[in-house]
Amino acid sequence: MTKTTFLILALLAASVAFAQRPGDSTSKEIDAAYPAAHDLYLDLHQHPELSAQEVQTAAKLAERLRGLGYEVTEHVGGTGVVALLKNGAGPTVMLRTELDALPVEEKTGLPYASKVQAKDDAGREVPVMHACGHDLHMATLYATAAVMARSKDTWHGTLMLIGQPAEETIGGARAMIKDGLVTRFPKPDFGVALHVGNTLPAGTVGITPGIYDSNADSERITIYGKGGHGSAPHTAVDPIVIAAKTIVALQTITSREVRPGEFAVITVGYIRAGTKNNIIPDEAEMGLTIRTYKAEVRKQVLAAIDRVVRGESMAGGATREPLIEHFESTNSVFNDPALAERLRGVLEAALGKQNVITTGPITASEDYSAFVELGIPSLYFSLGGADPAKLAEAERAGKMLPSNHSPLFAPDVEPALKTGVAAEVAVLRNLLSQR
Ligand code: ZN
Ligand code: ZN
Repeated sequence: MTKTTFLILALLAASVAFAQRPGDSTSKEIDAAYPAAHDLYLDLHQHPELSAQEVQTAAKLAERLRGLGYEVTEHVGGTGVVALLKNGAGPTVMLRTELDALPVEEKTGLPYASKVQAKDDAGREVPVMHACGHDLHMATLYATAAVMARSKDTWHGTLMLIGQPAEETIGGARAMIKDGLVTRFPKPDFGVALHVGNTLPAGTVGITPGIYDSNADSERITIYGKGGHGSAPHTAVDPIVIAAKTIVALQTITSREVRPGEFAVITVGYIRAGTKNNIIPDEAEMGLTIRTYKAEVRKQVLAAIDRVVRGESMAGGATREPLIEHFESTNSVFNDPALAERLRGVLEAALGKQNVITTGPITASEDYSAFVELGIPSLYFSLGGADPAKLAEAERAGKMLPSNHSPLFAPDVEPALKTGVAAEVAVLRNLLSQR
């Protein structure tokens, strides 16, 4: 064989291999949908809206999905969007994105960084940023919607896309359910969602069979003392000192009471008390977030918090029992293990085996669990969002890239978005392949 013949044969073999790669035709469909999705991403990123205020965001998503031929209903559970594409007999599969952004001041320095300010629920003027990547989720869902609408010969059944409000305040999923998500619309046979993050490189996805994230409980605790002059503590009961002792004692719950190896976190995220350095205030308030994986650990930790808070108040001579308010909670998201295994194969075929990574449960929480609790077997997976070179450099230096909710959070948009679409399309086509 001459060198030239060899080269021609090698080229032919390479082109055949390329043409036969399963994701190849899909990647052309994704490339076609990408520019409009990227435009939407830039628009959403520059115009973020706080939880339950996603009026413009929802309208933009609704308008685009309508443009693709979806039957769109707005204002489901507040600003929620439900878009249906019916394509003959078959299962109903739900794909969910969140709509909301966070009260974070963007410091990425990107040309399209958010400069938005808005009023939060308490009436305070706050900066707003898509610091959790929900803008990327929406743009991904939009491109997936386009690919699915343009390839109705590849699937059958009903595709149900939802834009969920108020994920960050863990209320939006329940609000949509309460407003008839599975009674006014077909109840999904399966559910799919993804979340972008900076621990996996763009181009990859992560799958966690079973428990995906944590149970979250929010508590507000008020400790009652007796105010007085800062120079005369003997005439007062200082609620700040009681609060300080309580905070330290709370940490012994996770270190001394919970069985080593079980996951439990108690974070006191704020403490508010007093107005001036020489005044002992009447009361002190603190806000807690409590995270666990297992139901029995959750029960144990919540009971221990109650005991410790009451005990420290009593020990400090508080004027009355502390007020303990449990004001928010959500359960951990459970990935149906059999479904996760089935879809792992689908994702490996679409993205390449090396790009599908098994990941452990994360410590964050999500109200997607409300959909799982309706009896919708689901896959909630991770989408790599880190610039691979930056991630490798950070790992070499023993550092982490800015995480979700950081003012510096900046996913590697194009590869993450395209991978998200490839993953969603592959999973949806598989789930919408049965009669
Ligand atoms: Zn978030
Ligand atoms: Zn998020």
